[in-house]
Amino acid sequence: MTRNQHSSPPGTRWGRAVVVGGGYAGLVVARVLADHFSEVLVLERDPVRPDTGVHPHAPQGHHAHALLARGSEALEGLFPGLRAELAELGAPVFDYGERINFLLPTGYAAATRTGVPVQTCTREELERRLRQRVAALPTVRVLAATRCETVTASAPGRLDRVRYRPEGADEPTDVTADLVADCSGRATSVDRWLTDAGLPVSARTVIKAKITYTSALYERPPDDRQDFDVAYQMTFAPDVTRGGVVLAVEHHRWMCSLLGFDGQAPPTDDEGYLDFAHTLGNPRLAEQIKRGTRQGPIHRYTNPGNEWRLHHKNARWPERLIAVGDALCLFNPAYGQGLTVAALEAELLGRLLGRRRAGAAGLDGLSRAYQRAAARVIQVPWTMATTSDLMWAPGRQPLPARFAHWYNQQVFALAVHDPDVWARFVRVLNMTAPPSLLFRPAVLAKVVRGVLRRRRAR
Ligand SMILES: Cc1cc2nc3c(=O)[nH]c(=O)nc-3n(C[C@H](O)[C@H](O)[C@H](O)COP(=O)(O)OP(=O)(O)OC[C@H]3O[C@@H](n4cnc5c(N)ncnc54)[C@H](O)[C@@H]3O)c2cc1C
Repeated sequence: MTRNQHSSPPGTRWGRAVVVGGGYAGLVVARVLADHFSEVLVLERDPVRPDTGVHPHAPQGHHAHALLARGSEALEGLFPGLRAELAELGAPVFDYGERINFLLPTGYAAATRTGVPVQTCTREELERRLRQRVAALPTVRVLAATRCETVTASAPGRLDRVRYRPEGADEPTDVTADLVADCSGRATSVDRWLTDAGLPVSARTVIKAKITYTSALYERPPDDRQDFDVAYQMTFAPDVTRGGVVLAVEHHRWMCSLLGFDGQAPPTDDEGYLDFAHTLGNPRLAEQIKRGTRQGPIHRYTNPGNEWRLHHKNARWPERLIAVGDALCLFNPAYGQGLTVAALEAELLGRLLGRRRAGAAGLDGLSRAYQRAAARVIQVPWTMATTSDLMWAPGRQPLPARFAHWYNQQVFALAVHDPDVWARFVRVLNMTAPPSLLFRPAVLAKVVRGVLRRRRAR
């Protein structure tokens, strides 16, 4: 592994860290822990090998995954050369505003250079590359086909004993860890671990937004040259209930996901799939499906919405246990935030551990400090996803959500003919700039002028 800004700081490493779940977040977290612990044990219940991409308990790997610019930057910091490695396989790198054919609810976004570089690849290839890199780290041991049965307390308020059982083993194994990272995704058993230890379960915030993805990979014809690398139609509450995306991905293929809100599940047979694509306002999706040759089956996945476990508000959150990725906060996938947020949470963990080691501090107090800081990472993407998703539900929604939704509509109205507004939106969406960028006087003035103009026209 190339040494980089995340390399091990001076000072003694801590002993053992255990990562529960060796999916995307587990791999990224293991990469960070490898800088600070002598031994990192990754428990993954699926029988993964270093070249595994999609596996049974992470079936979302079959669906289109957008990696936001900020997430891509964080991954590149943790895994130097990753972008080039994917590019060698044919995963394009491009400017978000130049090569994304983006259909907003108000029309196509203005094409412009935004200075926001992104790369498109399959989730399968991304996870495979991360797994290969992590498996090669000398201090990391990935135990595949090994289920974590429980995490218990070695002392009151300290959840640090992990019981796991490899497939087929008669007896479980118990290990004590200096740090346990719950990266077990949406199926996390953290509530049971806390209850069994006599600790209160953390509160949750749930914002429903049931959305069904139906996805397939298509080989592109050899002569397929397009003036876009992504064609997209976004869903938008409450009226735009269907959407979809085609991404140019490695090995000269399109990854296509069609999505429908609530009862609008896209079909899984070729004819029905294409028919659904034809109902979208962006014709490029149906065109690419028609031109391509399908590789592998059509997969379907229904996501119930957004769910945030508020561990940072749990006054008795235990020592030595942290939660990362979907095990902490699950987002509506339509906004493409999960991978980026988990990468930022891993980056954050690296910073906190680095500071403690540099100051020769121990690990006591880290778990709560981490959950509090992770909550600050989550707050903006969570607000962006959920204020919009609240609008799917009929009835009167909270005033801030209604205002945010209205403001988004004004920004979308401008973005179809104003490259500056679209570029700002792109930066906020990609988490390379704060949402306040859309509330600067220059934008506010355009919003007001736009509202007045439309009012006069009516
Ligand atoms: C349809 C869909 C589309 C998406 N699109 C995007 C997108 O465009 N962009 C984006 O950024 N995000 C997207 N996401 C979100 C993204 O997939 C998740 O945020 C990401 O997978 C989270 O990774 P994770 O490791 O936390 O969870 P997972 O990937 O679910 O991994 C959890 C792992 O833990 C293992 N595990 C669970 N319990 C145990 C146990 N007891 N013992 C051992 N192992 C265990 C599982 O086997 C699994 O490997 C999408 C999600 C879906 C569903």
